[in-house]
Amino acid sequence: MNGIDDKTVVRDYFNATGFDRWRRIYGDGEVNTVQLDIRTGHQQTVDTVLAWLKADDKLSELTICDAGCGVGSLSIPLAQAGAVVSASDISEKMVGEAKERAVAIGLPSNPSFSVQDLETLSGNYHTVICLDVLIHYPSDQAMDMIKNLSSLANDRLILSFAPKTFLLTILKKIGEFFPGPSKATRAYQHREAEVVRALESCGFKIQRSAMTSTRFYYSRILEAVRG
Ligand code: SAM
Repeated sequence: MNGIDDKTVVRDYFNATGFDRWRRIYGDGEVNTVQLDIRTGHQQTVDTVLAWLKADDKLSELTICDAGCGVGSLSIPLAQAGAVVSASDISEKMVGEAKERAVAIGLPSNPSFSVQDLETLSGNYHTVICLDVLIHYPSDQAMDMIKNLSSLANDRLILSFAPKTFLLTILKKIGEFFPGPSKATRAYQHREAEVVRALESCGFKIQRSAMTSTRFYYSRILEAVRG
């Protein structure tokens, strides 16, 4: 499968069965045990990133690009904390849901939302964030994505991905990520060293890192700043 095919499959998935599944996981309604575990793990990742940004104590001065924003799990609390957030996602259904959630809590214009492939994003932001998106792409394409995201970031890029170290565990769990008929996308792990190399080649150095692991959810989080 080449990169273009991966992207088409991912977009179609997140506009259909993947939308229903992930909207539930990233919500607060009833879900099964596996989905609850993934919800908990993902929330930990979001909370880690929020804690990093809040610790710097100048959120209200920051412009933030949330690439692959999903239903706004990070964009919305960041906007609530005062940052100016540009959120985008390749899936119009995910963006629609994110917008609804933001409006429902009184945030009609910040975050701003758009339907866009992160490889075609342009502009400049203080901080660019891309959580749990690279898992959908093979290494070559993921590294190209990191290059484009780097070009948008004036100061900082925060990424999360499933690390390759956990390959065996993840392989056993992939059926849980995309079970039954919705098992329409692959999950790709990435070597941390390769991700770091890609960031360094774009002029960044790692400032903070963290790892979230629950039974079914693994995510390595890297904060890179211009060195
Ligand atoms: N970042 C969000 C979060 O952590 O809550 C959502 C994570 S979800 C597992 C992956 C998201 O990436 C989906 O909403 C999907 O539509 C989006 N996505 C996948 N490929 C993308 C691409 N090439 N450009 C932008 N968004 C993409």
